[in-house]
Amino acid sequence: GLSGNKGWTPHWRNPEPKSEYDAIIIGGGGHGLSTAYYLAKNHGMTNIAVLEKGYIGGGNVGRNTTIVRANYFLPGNSEFYSHSLKLWEGLEKDLNYNVMHSQRGQIALFHSDGQRDAAVRRGNAIRNQGDDVELLSREDVQRLLPYLDYEQARFPIYGGLLQKRAGTARHDAVAWGYARGADQRGVDIIQNCEVTGIDIENGAVKGVQTTRGAICAKKVGIVVAGRSGQVAALAGMRLPIESHVLQAFVTEGLKPCIDHVVSFGMGHFYISQSDKGGLVFGGDLDFYASYAARGNLPMVEHVMEAGMTLMPMIGKAKLLRSWGGIMDMTPDGSPIIDKTDTKGLFIDCGWCYGGFKAVPGSGYSFAHLMATDTHHESAAKFRLDRFRTGVGLMDEEGTGAQHN
Ligand code: FAD
Repeated sequence: GLSGNKGWTPHWRNPEPKSEYDAIIIGGGGHGLSTAYYLAKNHGMTNIAVLEKGYIGGGNVGRNTTIVRANYFLPGNSEFYSHSLKLWEGLEKDLNYNVMHSQRGQIALFHSDGQRDAAVRRGNAIRNQGDDVELLSREDVQRLLPYLDYEQARFPIYGGLLQKRAGTARHDAVAWGYARGADQRGVDIIQNCEVTGIDIENGAVKGVQTTRGAICAKKVGIVVAGRSGQVAALAGMRLPIESHVLQAFVTEGLKPCIDHVVSFGMGHFYISQSDKGGLVFGGDLDFYASYAARGNLPMVEHVMEAGMTLMPMIGKAKLLRSWGGIMDMTPDGSPIIDKTDTKGLFIDCGWCYGGFKAVPGSGYSFAHLMATDTHHESAAKFRLDRFRTGVGLMDEEGTGAQHN
């Protein structure tokens, strides 16, 4: 930094779009970039472009609260997030990039006997999947998190579920690391290039129209998170997706005081402390459909109240800033990684409020699907047609909302 950026080399090239690629990824978020990386690395497909309408890291991948965990309950999600966490554990070595992955542990609190029962069931499912989890008593929690309010009577703390391998990562570094890794393998990352049309002939995809001209490709992957409904509509599809805003907040930098990720089981509130010292926290969706990447004040108040209920000490911290991202919500809270009815057109979406932890696993399995036309075993249940047939729904909405 003291060199005034002189002599620094860009992490990825800034190529002009070619007229044709073997595959196009629409969306340069975490999922799009990781898909391109694994297409190149695992499947030798390097004549690929990632088309991003803004800049790399400007979407949800750079807006989330960075929680990474593998403590899902239902078959389908369970094996997927387990696989994704294993990829996280080797990611820095794989990308040769410091994404500041920190396995500081996540504690999901419970506040009643019923919630304890549900936590025990979840814990057993997590262990059956081969992942780590521990049931904490109220005394255990008090020892680890002495700063919580153990006196308040409305939502008394009964205990918690601890996953030690869960934690956080530096979100935009994940995007940059994957972008650099993909670029090094020959992938063209094209920023400021919005896809405005999808060309289809005789039931097969032929390419896309963009603000920088038409580009041909026989394989196209839609990976645009909150914009999934709009981009799929370009191909004549109506997705089972609603887009909602989720806000996040960060305080001024403080000395280290919170050394886990903590999730409130009653009040839609989760928190961790960044390596810079800011307390990073969030809550629930702003409950109206919107494409605005900013939130409203009632949810700000709700999240602050939940924080004060759980840890009154937070009232002394000054809030520095807040922001919002657009969430692609499915009816069952679980994602979609699938082919479409158009040959060569694939879709990866529906990550709701929990898709950051999914970035490695999603890219890995979506690349597998795009390259081989078959589902990777870790993501085999993320079928689009479950919303048409009702078969194979995975209603795990609460897991995302409470724990993020
Ligand atoms: P994005 O980064 O949004 O990528 C999609 C990209 O597509 C964007 O860059 C967009 O510009 C581009 N695009 C859209 N339309 C077009 C077009 N027509 N042409 C070209 N490009 C286009 N998940 C967790 O696991 N843990 C958390 O703690 C967590 N907290 C969150 C907190 C907040 C406040 C938010 C907003 C999200 C949170 N999430 C969390 C969810 C997670 O961030 C998302 O699920 C995930 O990042 C979405 O995938 P992505 O990274 O590919 O999305």
